[in-house]
Amino acid sequence: MKYIGAHVSISGGVENAPLNAAAIGAKAFAMFTKNQRQWKSAPLSQKSIDAFQKNCADNGFAPEYILPHDGYLINLGNPDAEKRAISVEAFTDEMTRCQQLGLKLLNFHPGSHLKLISEDECLALIAEGINHALSETEGVTAVLENTAGQGSNLGYSFEQLAKIIERVQDQSRVGVCLDTCHTYAAGYDLKTEEGYARTMEDFNRILGFPLLRGMHLNDSKSKLGGKLDRHNSIGKGELGIETFRHLMQDTRLDGIPLVLETIDESLWPEEIRLLYSFC
Ligand SMILES: [Zn+2]
Ligand SMILES: [Zn+2]
Repeated sequence: MKYIGAHVSISGGVENAPLNAAAIGAKAFAMFTKNQRQWKSAPLSQKSIDAFQKNCADNGFAPEYILPHDGYLINLGNPDAEKRAISVEAFTDEMTRCQQLGLKLLNFHPGSHLKLISEDECLALIAEGINHALSETEGVTAVLENTAGQGSNLGYSFEQLAKIIERVQDQSRVGVCLDTCHTYAAGYDLKTEEGYARTMEDFNRILGFPLLRGMHLNDSKSKLGGKLDRHNSIGKGELGIETFRHLMQDTRLDGIPLVLETIDESLWPEEIRLLYSFC
């Protein structure tokens, strides 16, 4: 069974996210747990946590199908030790917030070397940051998202994600989120039948489907290998509608949150209906 949803707003409080998701016909959703453009936010109140959990239960959202996303400022691979410490602290706080909400996953972009250190050094720093956050929290899995490879962002190849994961001490609490736009922009074909089969075989060989804890479903403005992180609405980009029909028929993607981050949220109810019609 497919669990399809979108990255919904927490405006007015995190407790509104499950209501926003239910309103668009979602069976899964993503959310921020704080303002994604600030380092610090007020701690979650018990009232907000209780309301969030009640709204999730009332609308049938189990924690397995909720994929929170961390803030945009965090860079676990920052070469500057002082700045990296701030990121690790903020990331640990994000994991803590997920734990407080009773959630099981936290999706994040691995990090950037800022052209100051080697890729391998940066990948090792990212793993160190994950290890710190995991040691301070319980029950939440760190879910690395693959990137388009824009700028100095790492995590655009399955091998890079594997290099981070192999350094994580608690292997039971690390996973991967594949973003269809990023995957395609990074140079992995998802569009042709052979390309899709090869990409998924590569994923399985290098990382393995048990690590796949969620996906972001986005069409792409970037061409294959264009290295641009530019999402488009389903069927309106370079991937096209047939790619998503194909994805929805792949049973290896059952049982994990499949989340739209497409650019026109007024289309989300329609996009969710369309994707379910392919299942
Ligand atoms: Zn994404
Ligand atoms: Zn993106």
